[in-house]
This record gives sequence, C-alpha cells and structure tokens, in this order.
Amino acid sequence: MSVNGGRGSDGRERLVVIGGDAAGMSAASQARRLKGPDELEIVAFERGHFTSFSACGVPYWVGGEVPERDRLIARTPEEHRARGIDLRLRTEVTEIDVPGQRVRARDVDSGAESWTPYDRLVIATGARPVRPDLPGVDAPGVHGVQTLDDGQALLDTLARTRGRRAVVVGAGYIGVEMAEALINRGFEVTVVNRGKEPMSTLDPDMGRMVHRAMQGLGITMVNNAEVTKVLTGGDGRVRAVATEHAEYPADLVILGIGVRPETALARAAGLPLGAHGGLLTDLAMRVRGHENIWAGGDCVEVLNLVSGQEQYVPLGTHANKHGQVIGTNAGGGYATFPGVVGTAVSKVCDLEIARTGLREKDARRVGLRFETVTIESTSRAGYYPGAAPMTVKMLAECRTGRLLGVQIVGREGAAKRVDVAAVALTAQMTVEQMTALDLGYAPPFSPVWDPVLVAARKAVSKVRAS
Ligand SMILES: Cc1cc2nc3c(=O)[nH]c(=O)nc-3n(C[C@H](O)[C@H](O)[C@H](O)COP(=O)(O)OP(=O)(O)OC[C@H]3O[C@@H](n4cnc5c(N)ncnc54)[C@H](O)[C@@H]3O)c2cc1C
Repeated sequence: MSVNGGRGSDGRERLVVIGGDAAGMSAASQARRLKGPDELEIVAFERGHFTSFSACGVPYWVGGEVPERDRLIARTPEEHRARGIDLRLRTEVTEIDVPGQRVRARDVDSGAESWTPYDRLVIATGARPVRPDLPGVDAPGVHGVQTLDDGQALLDTLARTRGRRAVVVGAGYIGVEMAEALINRGFEVTVVNRGKEPMSTLDPDMGRMVHRAMQGLGITMVNNAEVTKVLTGGDGRVRAVATEHAEYPADLVILGIGVRPETALARAAGLPLGAHGGLLTDLAMRVRGHENIWAGGDCVEVLNLVSGQEQYVPLGTHANKHGQVIGTNAGGGYATFPGVVGTAVSKVCDLEIARTGLREKDARRVGLRFETVTIESTSRAGYYPGAAPMTVKMLAECRTGRLLGVQIVGREGAAKRVDVAAVALTAQMTVEQMTALDLGYAPPFSPVWDPVLVAARKAVSKVRAS
C-alpha cells in the first residue's frame, strides 16, 4: 500500500472530498472558487463512473421526456479536472483515520489501495437505497433507480421486455414518478404500497386525492400491502410480486421504498450520528466536535425549522446548498445552513403534489395545538380557459395563528404555489400576515384571491374561533 504524497509537503493544504455528486462536487467547486490551486489542493474520490449528475432526472429519462443520459450530467469529470480538482473516479474510500487525518482508498477495478492525508475533509457519501431482504429480490427484471447506471440498466430491460406489466413497490415520490415513467412507456402499472395512502409525506386525506387521481390515470393502487416475495419464472426472471393476500403479475419490478444515509464509513470512524443514522453537523455543516471535517447532502440529518427537531430529508435541493456552504467554509470563508422547512414537489402525469412544513402527525408529535383548513380553488380565474381544480390544506397554530404547514394537490400551477408557503414558514409568518401578501394576479395565472391566500383567510377565521 502506498501513501499519496504528504500533507503540506509542497506548502499547500489539502482538502479531501468523499463522494462526487451534488454535495461533494458543489463543495469542491466552491472551495476552488475561493482558493486557487497554488493555495489549496483538492482531491475528490468517487466510486462510480459519473460526477455531478441529476438522479432527480432519472424518472424523466426513463419515461422518455429527457432523450439522453448525458443531459443529466451537470459537470463531467474532465470539467472538474480542468478547474483544478484532482478527481479520482472508480475509487472508493474504505476508511477514515480521524486521529491520523488520512483516508484509505481502493481502486475499484484494480483493488490497489493507498492512504491520502488531508488537512480538511468533506464527507458527501449520499444515501443508499433500501433493498428489502426478500426472496427473489435480486432476480433479473427487478430494478432500483438511484444512479445513472441504474437508469441505463432499466432502459435496457425495457427494450428487451416483451410483456407490458410493471409493479412499482413503494408510493413515495420516487414510486409515483416511476409509475408515470412506465405509463409513458406503455406499461400497465400496479403500485404496491405499505401505507394507508400514497405519498406518506402528505396527510392521508391529501394522499387519498393522489390515490384517486392515480386510479384515474389507469394506475392500479394497492395500499396497506406488504410485499412478501418476488416470484420468478422458469427462466429465473421476475414473473410476479406477492403480498400476504395476493399476487400481482409483473414483467418488470421497480423498487422505490426509500433511502438511508450512507454513513458506514463515518460510523466506523467514530463520528457522531443522529437518531435517523445521519451525520450530525453544526450550522456551518461541520461535523460536531471536529474542526476540520464537514458533511452534507443525503448523509446528514438537518434541523427542521418548524418543529425544531433533527430530521432526515434526503433531497437534492439541500445537497447543493450544503455543498455551497461547506465549500465556502472549507475554502476559508464563512457560511451557514440554518435548516429546512420541509418543502418538496413532485408529479404523476398531470397531477402535481406539493408539501411544506408539518403534517398533522408531525405537529402533534412535537406538542403543537393547531387548526386545519382545506379549500378547493382553481389554478386560473374560473372563467379563463384551462382553469383546473386545486386543493390546498393548511395548518396553523392555535392562539398565535403561526403557519405550520401547507399541502397542495392539483393540476398545472399547483406545485410551485407551495413556495409562497415555504417563504412564509421561513419568515415565521402568521396566517393573518399571509392574507396581506402582495401576490401577482391576472386571470391566466390565478383567481383574484390566490388559492394559498384563500386557505390563509379560512385559517384566520378558524384560529380566531378556536
Ligand atoms: C429517482 C430519484 C429522483 C429524485 N428526485 C429528486 C427531486 O425531484 N428533487 C430533489 O430535491 N431530490 C431528488 N432526489 C434526491 C437527490 O437526487 C439526492 O438528494 C441528491 O443526489 C443527494 O446528493 P448527495 O451528493 O448528497 O448524494 P449522492 O447523489 O448519493 O452522491 C453521493 C456520491 O458519493 C459516492 N460515494 C459514496 N460512498 C463513497 C465512498 N466510500 N467512496 C467514494 N465515493 C462514495 C456515491 O457513489 C455517490 O456518487 C431524487 C433521487 C432519486 C434517486
């Protein structure tokens, strides 16, 4: 085993980054903007084939809206190298030696190992998809959708498979986006879901609307169902998915049942992990108790600004912001990431789904008393062509009237309306203050009272009466 150079041997400090996607390469790029190659050496390790790619775009690539893989790559390894980042692809970090300030890395293809010393370290190892330990789960025809390689493997299967029945396991946002992708590819789609309704990030009454809309799109929804095994045919390929009560024929199975923080390395190194298994950081994204180690993206827990509790929210929007903050700090500047309010949007065909803040059960869990209102409105003035129905649910704290959460289900224009609520949550506004917001209006864009404001008005009345 060799040791790669020596820390500070040429007078430069060395920043080592583990993980070459959103958080890791944002951090490396930002540090490079602040400190040139003559001051700071940056070495980034990535065990896969790609850097800075959009997993978020995989469902749309598989569904055919995005025509080719390379459109999902924001910055190639060559582009990073041209900016003075020593990027080592197909190289996996297998150990972090915190007292010795060095990482051990293994060349995935040759197996060769070496130690690389660091002055500053960034851990951006992301998440690992949950793969249930079920009979048949590794059979050909069963796919995950985490990486570009996964997307390509799935497209290869789609091209080979003659049957047209697909089962998606899991009805979170990845499950519903993959259901849409397969509908677009001409499949009959069944979604098997452990929960009471799809989209457990919504309250069940809003999830019920998503359920009905998915049925309207021709998707078979099976709720309250636990997959017990994947059945295979004589050729060894998947032929059905079994639950306790039924079997669902399948020529193709997609697993979309969530992810866990990829923190095995950090755990082995004795770094602090939270209740959800993610690394714990301070506001500067520095790993707690470690002056020269930062972590961000899907491998960390974040503070929910509404509940005041640590949460695991693996989203690309946070990973990019974390990377920016880490790179600024590791590059000698100063930045912080205060936390999240829990905003997320997705869609299945023309149905848009959005949420921010707390669900009813989140608010109850932290001991908040609240009122809820649900209103029906439209995306445009009722008389304007194309006006589509939209449902907005809002939670406000009793007595103070503070906004606690918003969920929206509707057609075009529904999802991004949640951003108004996200800003209001961040500013800790009351629903009464929200009713005075000067939002844009013209008939093609909204009714004269925007649906979010209609909900806020109703919430004001309910809080006053409570
Ligand atoms: C299908 C899908 C759709 C999504 N859609 C959205 C969306 O619409 N909106 C949204 O906000 N988010 C979305 N996400 C989530 C988003 O993609 C992630 O939050 C984001 O990629 C996290 O970035 P990251 O850099 O933290 O981790 P990752 O993207 O997981 O990158 C971590 C990298 O580290 C590498 N790595 C791990 N361990 C090691 C090691 N020991 N040595 C070397 N390299 C290592 C991995 O190979 C990987 O490339 C989606 C995710 C998926 C899978």
